[in-house]
Amino acid sequence: MIRAWLFFAIFLTTACGDLLSDSENGDDFIADLIEGADSADGHASVQGDLVVGGSCANIGEEDGCECSDGSDGYKTCRAGGYGPCVCKAELSASNQGQACFASQCFDVFSLEPTPPAYAYPSPQGGDKRYTAPLAYLDLEHENGNASLSPNFVLKETAQAAKGPYAVVQPRTIDKLQKIRNDLGAIRINSGYRSPHYNKGLGGATYSRHMYGDAFDFTPLSKSLDEGVEACHRAGATFIKKYEFHVHCDWRDLDLEDAFFGASMPWS
Ligand SMILES: [Zn+2]
Repeated sequence: MIRAWLFFAIFLTTACGDLLSDSENGDDFIADLIEGADSADGHASVQGDLVVGGSCANIGEEDGCECSDGSDGYKTCRAGGYGPCVCKAELSASNQGQACFASQCFDVFSLEPTPPAYAYPSPQGGDKRYTAPLAYLDLEHENGNASLSPNFVLKETAQAAKGPYAVVQPRTIDKLQKIRNDLGAIRINSGYRSPHYNKGLGGATYSRHMYGDAFDFTPLSKSLDEGVEACHRAGATFIKKYEFHVHCDWRDLDLEDAFFGASMPWS
């Protein structure tokens, strides 16, 4: 009975969240407790939305492919065919195909062509903050326990089930670490989401979770209000308190060229 009430309460939370969404313009509005259910949101359908062509039988098996610059890439067999050719993405002189965090650097890759799961919406009114990324981390090829900062590892900020190719903007991790230093332990409910995953959640069209500069978290020993304050102190430019978590993002900071190319900064 208690469980039934809990589900009802969660349902109400989502329903109310939906009503709020119109005024939010660009933020997600799904409480992340709900995201627990999303791992069941059809791994198969996510896989299918990664397919760009070619037929293959053994899911997970890799094959070589040629990148547009003539270099060698690789493609993975997904449900229904091959995923995109994954190519080392050297987007700028300062970031030669790498995204560097406080702890270490990771290779970043372009997807040729862009699979349906990564079809980003066109930037609203040409707003460059909503430019689609040009490069991604390949979560299936990285160790999820790889450290990004003193208290955070890769899989806390991006999980393959929410999109195997992910954007995690390094300076946002610095901010997140600042919040953590302020609050003590926090649980991150949601970081990066692919457009496909975000859509499946019913997330806002321009959710910052698709751009690698948004986190939903719950402080483990502090209140949500203290979480909001910590976001302010870490310079977040959009903050929202939900029933069970705080969303904060840094949408007004320049997009980082490791993922968005040298045409950034946008401001
Ligand atoms: Zn959020």
